[in-house]
Amino acid sequence: MLKAEIVLDTKSILGEGPVWDDRENVLYWVDIKKCELHIFDPVKNKDRVIITDQPIGTVVPGKKKNSLVLAMENGFYFLDVLTGKTEFIGDPEKDKPDNRFNDGKCDPAGRFFAGTMGKQGGREAGALYMLDTDAGLSISKVLDKISISNGIVWSRDKKTMYYIDSPVKKVWAFDYDLSTGSIGNRRDAIDGTAEPGVFDGMTDDSRGILWIAYYRGGRVAAWDPVTGKKLEEIEVPAPHVTACAFGGKDLDTLYITTARQGMTEAELKAWPQAGGLFTVKPGVSGVKAYRFGA
Ligand code: CA
Repeated sequence: MLKAEIVLDTKSILGEGPVWDDRENVLYWVDIKKCELHIFDPVKNKDRVIITDQPIGTVVPGKKKNSLVLAMENGFYFLDVLTGKTEFIGDPEKDKPDNRFNDGKCDPAGRFFAGTMGKQGGREAGALYMLDTDAGLSISKVLDKISISNGIVWSRDKKTMYYIDSPVKKVWAFDYDLSTGSIGNRRDAIDGTAEPGVFDGMTDDSRGILWIAYYRGGRVAAWDPVTGKKLEEIEVPAPHVTACAFGGKDLDTLYITTARQGMTEAELKAWPQAGGLFTVKPGVSGVKAYRFGA
């Protein structure tokens, strides 16, 4: 089994949300709990950190230069990379102070899908939302009664959306209408009920294979969502593996984020690099991440 290696030993509490910016050749990722946005340049081996005023669930690159879009504890925001300043877009859960945004990504039309969860857990307390690219930047609810909204990926032909609500331990597939962003016909694509831990974040490669992070499972595994079969596993020297994304100039490096939260002293001793950013080259390439507004 291939093993991922540490690239940044940040000891993050909840490293998450890696996404490669193919225009700037940097990896964005976050530490949700430390309110940190990381901008990692692997060529210069430099990791710039922007501290924000609230937890960041996830980040996507924008169409405009130096503009990112964040799903934060209290809604959607633009972030100017040069100044580090945020600009509020909207909050669909103003009435839910116990919730925060978690994972999310842009669809092939540049709409930002991101979901929420209860800060203390809470079964079915969250939802999945869509920030649209219209002039009013409208926000709509896509799915209700979500517990821990996590990985989201669109098939290469853009006709299927894959989505993870972690406690369910499955990847759901939905028919996807690219012209409207609407979904339907939910079914199980991948069954992870016999797997260790729970499915967390995910990304896809150029073949349409899904690479899924295992929280409490210490690995990333590649699954074919069409056959529902597992193809291979990557060992990660940290139990809480949160998300992954292909990056590098040729998109052939898998970047993997991990968390340090909830580990005992003995576990921290056994996995001293937990919370770090890891990489592996599994011999396949990823695809460019979609930008907001693209
Ligand atoms: Ca996650």
